[in-house]
Amino acid sequence: MNLKNKNEYGFLLDMDGVLYRGKELIEGAHEFINTLLDRDIRFLFLTNNSSPTPKDLKVKLKKYGLEVEERHFYTCAMATVDFLSLNKPESTAYVIGEGGILTALYEAGYGITSNDPDYVIVAEGRTLNYESLEMAQNMILKGAHLIATNLDETCPTEGGYRPGCGALVASLEKATGKKAYSVGKPSPFMMRAARKKLNLKTAQTIMIGDTMETDIKGAVELGFNSILVLSGNTSDLDLIHYPYKPRFVYKNLGGINLNELFDELDRDIRYVDEETE
Ligand SMILES: [Mg+2]
Repeated sequence: MNLKNKNEYGFLLDMDGVLYRGKELIEGAHEFINTLLDRDIRFLFLTNNSSPTPKDLKVKLKKYGLEVEERHFYTCAMATVDFLSLNKPESTAYVIGEGGILTALYEAGYGITSNDPDYVIVAEGRTLNYESLEMAQNMILKGAHLIATNLDETCPTEGGYRPGCGALVASLEKATGKKAYSVGKPSPFMMRAARKKLNLKTAQTIMIGDTMETDIKGAVELGFNSILVLSGNTSDLDLIHYPYKPRFVYKNLGGINLNELFDELDRDIRYVDEETE
């Protein structure tokens, strides 16, 4: 495998805390993304937010002045549909969630039903009610598989936080005694599917994120190169609390010099002979 060609590296990027925080674009994000586009370096935004569609996300980033295409996004909703396609095509699902997950399921031809579904899928949404939880509980007790688009416990909002998908899933796990399968980061399913979408090999893949439990853990477990940026919810003082470490730490995207990064990775012989898939 020839890793000497610098354009053979590619990036998986988290969004919140990497590109923007609240209404603020993070320093260096604009230049970094434009450099990837100019140099034709492959990249994919990986988000554990299942509500927006790629079109929504494209519009959102445009508001920050970032011009990318729908093909640059891979959400945990899309990964969940890929997971179903691989494991049980033509199955049916009951969904607690909205937006992106429903669109992705419809587009892939999945039936959404409350009548004996194969799966109960729990995603983000603001329309939760007790009745839907009760229905989901009974479907799971009758044998439907519980799937979580992700297990994030909280989600950042402009005013603070709201309960994440993981908090909701926990209530159904408790009520049914069944454990959910989670598709979103750091699940190997989503991390690997993202790498395959970019047609990258493990050693060529660089994950950039601000969250140790998802972005960095997932990258470490799959052997990807990992970059923690301190522009989101992790500070360098937090690092001692984790048994795993990111390969590189930068203040923000503006601190990354691509040529130096690629040279450093080129010198690294640890990964070169691994995984030729
Ligand atoms: Mg983040």
